[in-house]
Amino acid sequence: MALRAPGLPLEPVQRPLPAPGAGQVRIAVTACGVCRTDLHVVDGDLAFPGRAVVPGHEVVGRVDATGAGVHDLHPGQRVGVPWLGWTCGRCDHCRAGRENLCREARFTGWQLDGGYASHLLADARFVLPLPDRYADEQAAPLLCAGLIGHRAYAMALRLTGADAHRIGLYGFGAAAHLVAQVAVHDGRSVFAFTRPGDAAAQALARGLGATWAGDSDAAPPAALDAAILFAPVGALVPAALRDVRAGGTVICAGIHMSDIPSFPYALLWGERRLASVANLTRADGEAFLRVAAEVPLAVTTRRYALADANLALDDLRHGRFAGAAVLVP
Ligand SMILES: [Zn+2]
Ligand SMILES: [Zn+2]
Repeated sequence: MALRAPGLPLEPVQRPLPAPGAGQVRIAVTACGVCRTDLHVVDGDLAFPGRAVVPGHEVVGRVDATGAGVHDLHPGQRVGVPWLGWTCGRCDHCRAGRENLCREARFTGWQLDGGYASHLLADARFVLPLPDRYADEQAAPLLCAGLIGHRAYAMALRLTGADAHRIGLYGFGAAAHLVAQVAVHDGRSVFAFTRPGDAAAQALARGLGATWAGDSDAAPPAALDAAILFAPVGALVPAALRDVRAGGTVICAGIHMSDIPSFPYALLWGERRLASVANLTRADGEAFLRVAAEVPLAVTTRRYALADANLALDDLRHGRFAGAAVLVP
C-alpha cells in the first residue's frame, strides 16, 4: 500500500520482489503496526520524500532472503524492523552515541519503504530479534509504540529522578497502554488522560492498573512527578506543566504536534523541565525488548487486512479503537 503524494489515500501497488543488496535482508511481513507517525507521513506533516512511499515502521516478519555479508540473520528467523532504518555512523551525533539524531538518518516507512506490504528490504544492522512470548500481531506495536514509549519513560525518570512515582500519560493509545504496564510493573502510579469522554481508553487504562483515568481537560487527583505526552496536541503542554509538581518533567514523545499555546512562565518555574524524545537508537530497541521479554505485556490490538490500511489510519485518526491497530497481509 503506497502513498503517491501527501493527502491522498494509500493505493495498492504491485512491484517485483526486490533482491536484498549487500548488508540487507528481505523480510516477508506477517504483521505491521499502524503508528500515529504514519498519519503524519500521509497528511504531509512530515516532508514527503519525493517518491511513492510505503508506510509502516512496526514490522514483524520472517527473513526471506539475505544479501552479501549478512551472517547473523538466517532465512526463516523472526525479526522486527523499527523506525530507525539507517544511520551514517560518521556525524557528530552518531559518534557520540546519539544515532537517533543522526543528520542523515533514514527512517522506515518514510525515506525507506516500510511494512504496509507483503515484503520489505531492511539493513540487517537495524533489525531486531523479538521476544518469543509475543505472537506476531502482538509484537508489532512493541516496535514503535513500545520502543519510543520506553525511551520517553526512561528520559522522564532520568530527568526527574528514579523515585518519580506518579506518572501521567496524556493520550492513552498504543504507546501509553504499553508504558503504563511497565510503570505499574516498576511499582509506580499511572494517571491516564484520554480524549474527553473516551470511556473505552479509560477502561483499558484502569484494566492495566492505572491509579486514575480521566479526560485530558480534567485535573489529576494529585500532582504528578512526570508527564509523558503521546497525543499530538500542543495545548496539552501547558496543561501537563500545570499538573506536575516543582522539579517535575514533561516529555513530548510524538514526532509532530500542533502549535503550543503561549503560557505564563509560572507554569515552567520551579525547575520544571520540558523535553522532547526523538526517534530511537538501536540500544533503545535492545533495552526495551529485554524489558518486554521479562514483563508480560498485554498488547491490545485491532487487526485489519493490509488492503484496509486506509480504514485503519482513519480509525486511528478518529480514536475509534483502544490499543494498537495492526495490518496483516
Ligand atoms: Zn549520523
Ligand atoms: Zn511510530
